[in-house]
Amino acid sequence: MQLEPALTPSSDLPNNNNSTFRYQDSHDAMGTTFDLAAYGADGEFLAAVFNEVFEEIDRLEQQMSKFRYESEISHINRNASRHSIMVEPKLFGLIQCALRVSAQTDGAFDITIGPLMKSWGFFRHQGRVPGDGEIGEILKSTGHMHVKSDSAARTVRFDHERVELDLGALAKGYALDRAVEILRGYCVTSALVSSGMSSIYALGSPPGERAWEIKLRDPFDAAKAADAILLKNCSISTSGNYVRFFKLDGKTYSHIINPATGWPAEGMLSTAVASVDTTESEALSTALYVLGPERAAQILAGRPNLSVVYYQPGDKPETFKRVAARSSSFNLPPDVVAEIKWPWYRSVF
Ligand code: AMP
Ligand code: MG
Repeated sequence: MQLEPALTPSSDLPNNNNSTFRYQDSHDAMGTTFDLAAYGADGEFLAAVFNEVFEEIDRLEQQMSKFRYESEISHINRNASRHSIMVEPKLFGLIQCALRVSAQTDGAFDITIGPLMKSWGFFRHQGRVPGDGEIGEILKSTGHMHVKSDSAARTVRFDHERVELDLGALAKGYALDRAVEILRGYCVTSALVSSGMSSIYALGSPPGERAWEIKLRDPFDAAKAADAILLKNCSISTSGNYVRFFKLDGKTYSHIINPATGWPAEGMLSTAVASVDTTESEALSTALYVLGPERAAQILAGRPNLSVVYYQPGDKPETFKRVAARSSSFNLPPDVVAEIKWPWYRSVF
């Protein structure tokens, strides 16, 4: 197993000028490190705002982690196959959002994937290849249709005792959206917030710049950038086969599962999705990793203002090729920037 950052704030950010300075801090939560950087005139004020952001992220982890016995998600997972469980409004909204993405992606995005992740040994970092019988048995209780939600009562119920919810593919994105809400609430106008290797949101732009510059890593080499992205009031999320994986007999098995087969998704090295909504970019980077460019076309026809880059294996070992795409309906608001900086991309975005 290996953990490498996929997204890093550009190191050549402008330095302090006169009254504005750059403040940054980081915080470990949700199995990753959240990084915050912001420009402002008052460091003490920004430190207090950052602390509020980190407290909120801790609260969300406490609520959503399936690894904590006392979390609301664990409570749901233990009990929802026996009776309906009432869910806190925002978490209920997030679960509904996940179920909608599942329905729109023909189940490629699946928050009931936990038992398969466990069977493949990804949660305990003990990779193994389960037998076909084992996978077939788990698939019987996998899929969003096993989660029944009632909006009027704000409850969820499972129709099988082995169903469990795993928000691992979107909780970090949701946490960034909450972080940005807090920053905006305090009138912070220039900040970069990231959740380790998964997502980054660019609020405004650095002083005197048009946008924040974000580097996307090369799928084969964490030290190399594959692309540089310009972002303003927008997020980008990545899903990659390098995040969590194991090797057996020369084959690499990575942590994003194709719910249609119960096996790790194939044919993709990584995906990057830009959206003004980080929960959406987080969920879709995982879903589009499973679907690939051809099957994802219906998603891009149904959701506006998304930019996507797929990194797929190239013709030679350790090389990659890019496929870029965007929503059929693409008309970003004037205060949003989502562009690839390097020349090859100009013709696409
Ligand atoms: P990400 O790195 O955002 O793509 O999220 C990957 C994580 O989401 C995995 O570690 C699993 O916990 C979970 N996961 C794996 N496969 C899927 C899937 N097909 N749909 C939703 N979540 C998944
Ligand atoms: Mg994701």
